[in-house]
Amino acid sequence: MKTLITNATVLTMNPEYEVFEKGFILFENDRILAVGPTEEQPSAGYDHMLDGKNAIAMPGMVNTHTHIGMIPFRSLGDDTPDRLRRFLFPLEKACMTKDLAYHSGKYAIAEMQLAGVTTFMDMYYFEDELAQATDEMKARAILGETVIDFATCDTTEAHGGLAYAEIFIPKWLGHNLITPAIAPHAPNTNSPQALRRAADIAEKYGVPLTLHLSEMDYEIRHFQEKYGKTPVAFLNDLSILNKRLIAAHCIHVTPEDITLLQQNEVAVAHCIGANTKSAKGVAPVKAMLEAGIRVGLGTDGPSSGNTLDLFTQMRMFANFHKTHLQDRGAFPAREIVRLATMGGAEVLGLADKIGSLEPGKKADIVLVETESANMFPIFDPYAVLVYSANAGNVSEVFINGAPIVKDKRLVAQNLNALRTALASEMQEFTKQAKANEKKPVL
Ligand SMILES: [Zn+2]
Repeated sequence: MKTLITNATVLTMNPEYEVFEKGFILFENDRILAVGPTEEQPSAGYDHMLDGKNAIAMPGMVNTHTHIGMIPFRSLGDDTPDRLRRFLFPLEKACMTKDLAYHSGKYAIAEMQLAGVTTFMDMYYFEDELAQATDEMKARAILGETVIDFATCDTTEAHGGLAYAEIFIPKWLGHNLITPAIAPHAPNTNSPQALRRAADIAEKYGVPLTLHLSEMDYEIRHFQEKYGKTPVAFLNDLSILNKRLIAAHCIHVTPEDITLLQQNEVAVAHCIGANTKSAKGVAPVKAMLEAGIRVGLGTDGPSSGNTLDLFTQMRMFANFHKTHLQDRGAFPAREIVRLATMGGAEVLGLADKIGSLEPGKKADIVLVETESANMFPIFDPYAVLVYSANAGNVSEVFINGAPIVKDKRLVAQNLNALRTALASEMQEFTKQAKANEKKPVL
């Protein structure tokens, strides 16, 4: 089936940053056939036409780091310093179940789709159930089963996740939209042997490897005291730095670390919202990009980043990096939109399929309406997306050519039903969370 989107400002995000102020997009099934100015628009030969009503058309956004199973944790203990020990670890251990992860996953994906995120990379437990949720929501994703140095909510293995991943990865390999992966939690929460085994599993199946890296100040101290080196140098010595590695955060990296990441073609998922909310710092993204490192934006999980949309991240990226560099000209808006689209696609190794609106690419397309009060006037569509638009302006979303959001509503899903299902699974979790709120400071 051929679909024609007309009457839109098309931001192609191709290497030339081509923009068609009055433009069209033609796609057939899952593939984009043509993009161009209205004068070149086909007058026949399509099955369906969608009037863009002066919307901004952009490639589907790519969230390079999140934890979709963690919706229940949102707004829980946000400002408490002992949040990890008071809420996250005990509640994950006591209350996180297959069903809770699954319903959280569906809800999180709905939130992303309504915000124009068409592809995401996840790291959590119960990735098999999360893959099921992703499949049902028709989202594009890379899903990494967490590996960590203790038994977890989804496995009784002494070293959680390794055996699980060996079953999970082959099960989902070859799926149209889902790429299974493996996700050691962090260098300091895994033994060197487990890190090596995880990297070997990624190698064996040819799938991505992702982990949190150089995120915590105590992580840096741990490696300095134990090995006299940075976590990045430590991973380099373990031969774990390579092109399939997607490292989240990389806040506390040295110039030598940046060189190692670049030489080994490691990609970085930058989560400015989560990093600054937790007062950890601003990662040196300018230096990373100048070194030629692939960088994309990530929301982190709903407990650390709270919302799963990239409009929030783009805005915070601009504010924090400009302030950090003391330069209002740093990172013009179109570079930030690039990080949220093509940059993310490059990070996930999907740049040949998604990230830009070009013939031959997958039809992952987002329309951002311009009828709302905050969307007028438009001198620069990139600036509008970064500085004034929000997730509520996303009106239409296609993933792999399938209509996912229409007139700001999910096409095949009901958000209220997803919420009701999640809320009913959350009863035990909520009871426990409220009990933990009352505990003395840990
Ligand atoms: Zn994370």
